[in-house]
Amino acid sequence: MDEKVKSIKEDLQKDIASATKLQDIVDIKAKYIGKSGCITDLMKNMKDYSPEERKEIGQIVNNLKNEVTEIISNKEKDLNNEILNAKLANESIDITLPATEIKCGAPNILEKVVEDFEEVFMSMGYDVYDGPEVEEDKYNFELLNIPKGHPARDAQDTFYIKDDEILLRSQTSPVQARVMLSLEGKEPVRMICPGKTYRRDDDDATHSHQFMQIEGLLVDHNISLSDLKGTFDVIARKLFGEETQTRFRPSYYQFTEPSVEMDISCFSCKGKGCSLCKNTGWITIAGAGMVHPNVLSMCGYDPEKWNGFAFGFGAERCAMLKYNINDIRCFYNTDLRETETFDRRDGE
Ligand SMILES: [Zn+2]
Repeated sequence: MDEKVKSIKEDLQKDIASATKLQDIVDIKAKYIGKSGCITDLMKNMKDYSPEERKEIGQIVNNLKNEVTEIISNKEKDLNNEILNAKLANESIDITLPATEIKCGAPNILEKVVEDFEEVFMSMGYDVYDGPEVEEDKYNFELLNIPKGHPARDAQDTFYIKDDEILLRSQTSPVQARVMLSLEGKEPVRMICPGKTYRRDDDDATHSHQFMQIEGLLVDHNISLSDLKGTFDVIARKLFGEETQTRFRPSYYQFTEPSVEMDISCFSCKGKGCSLCKNTGWITIAGAGMVHPNVLSMCGYDPEKWNGFAFGFGAERCAMLKYNINDIRCFYNTDLRETETFDRRDGE
């Protein structure tokens, strides 16, 4: 027995010395202490001995097994350390190398402009509403004082889905009609409804068949044009700088009376005249007016008791002015060279 133990130990020393990888350890474990390993065999043969011998030999085999197991596990630890050290040596980091640039997405610049508007209006107590882009003729035109056959429809020709009744909305105003109807003429309204709109325009640098409007509506008691002017002043200063001046020019819309164009002083030349403002010193950025009594009454509000103002900004126009973009198609053609120009993560 002593001979056997001795020879097993000698074999093990040789095997351990020549083991260089983890698979060698697996093989060694199988050879000595595995299910059909030589030490396991010794244990299986115990039945051949007398009870006295069994006790003594059992002790020897157990000690041997413990010793062998420890030797193998020490070698396994050493090998693991060697592998780790070799890996660390290979993967050493050169901190002087430039870091890998991580590409990061950002919202579309239009989204940013809309969010800026939302923030200012919400600070003045306005709610933000959403509405369907596929709309009924009734909400898109009729309730806004543009009956069938009215020439004002020509300027807002859109895409029709079904007959003349279902269409892609040509303005976001139908959301205002929906909100007024839902309040049944009982509560004041203070809302904006930014969103996509559609018109059958040929695309060029300043026209797009799809664009975004930021329309708003305020209905309450004793509202005047000066309330609109004050509101516009706040918006213009917040979005285009504290020194921005504003002015109204008379205009015409079917759903407001009186109607105005809202201009801001040119932020590029500070009013002196430049190509951006076509040498006028002023830039038109929105249309607005006092809500037409017909619109109020069709949407459930008694024009004798209620009045208010409505306005509409073009998101693309504001973005083009603010970020000096000269082609509206830039917003929709997904050209990365153009969209990457605007780093929108810095809050600007
Ligand atoms: Zn100018």
